[in-house]
Amino acid sequence: MSEDDKETQTSELKEDEKESVEEKPKTKFSFKCTRCNNCCAARGPIPITFWDLEMWAKNGVVANFMPYLDIYQKPDAGIDLILKPLAPPPKEGEEETSPKEPFGGVSIEELLDVKCPLYNKDDKKCLIYENRPLSCRTYPLEFDGKNFIVVDADCPGIGEEGMTKEDLKEMRETAKIMHYELTRMRIALPVLNQLISQKIMMDLMRQNMDAMSKMTDEDRAKLDEIFKKGHEDQ
Ligand code: SF4
Ligand code: SF4
Repeated sequence: MSEDDKETQTSELKEDEKESVEEKPKTKFSFKCTRCNNCCAARGPIPITFWDLEMWAKNGVVANFMPYLDIYQKPDAGIDLILKPLAPPPKEGEEETSPKEPFGGVSIEELLDVKCPLYNKDDKKCLIYENRPLSCRTYPLEFDGKNFIVVDADCPGIGEEGMTKEDLKEMRETAKIMHYELTRMRIALPVLNQLISQKIMMDLMRQNMDAMSKMTDEDRAKLDEIFKKGHEDQ
């Protein structure tokens, strides 16, 4: 068994724990995507990285992705930029959401196992295959900085024969790049988020102060009246 095979043969295998590999031999990791599309039909939010943004910019397609991008504040307080899954179709009696509101006001937590917005269920096809995010290119293998992790044990491609040493090496490399790119994004997003929020808040305050300074005495008196009424109603 080669070192490459050993390294990706378990769902949680430390890169530097080759001794324990010899003590406890595990099944050789083998994968070949069967194109069953099960993952696309139930992926939930897909994390987007700078690698994806750069690729889309290079291919001139960033604007096409804008309607599907969202910020996901995770339960652990981390922030991810994601491709947000589409809201499921309305149940009987419920109102159809506008096509301009693909997420239909549904929270991301309710969409953890619904289909990717860019998967065409009828044609069983990814609509943006050439531009698919890094996360889709490495699925179902991930790297967490120490271990390679199979994130979907039910993926039918796992255990399929035909994976060459080069395929395995490439898959592991892609998983490592995904980890690196996701880490970069997770460092940058909270900083950008705070800076942009501050800037928007300051601009709003500036606009308000500007508008106030241009008000006539009569307008000011009316505004005072409205505030006074608001206090009395409370
Ligand atoms: S990665 Fe797995 S679940 Fe996704 S299409 Fe390939 S075989 Fe199917
Ligand atoms: S972007 Fe394409 S490959 Fe990725 S989950 Fe969506 S449909 Fe599947």
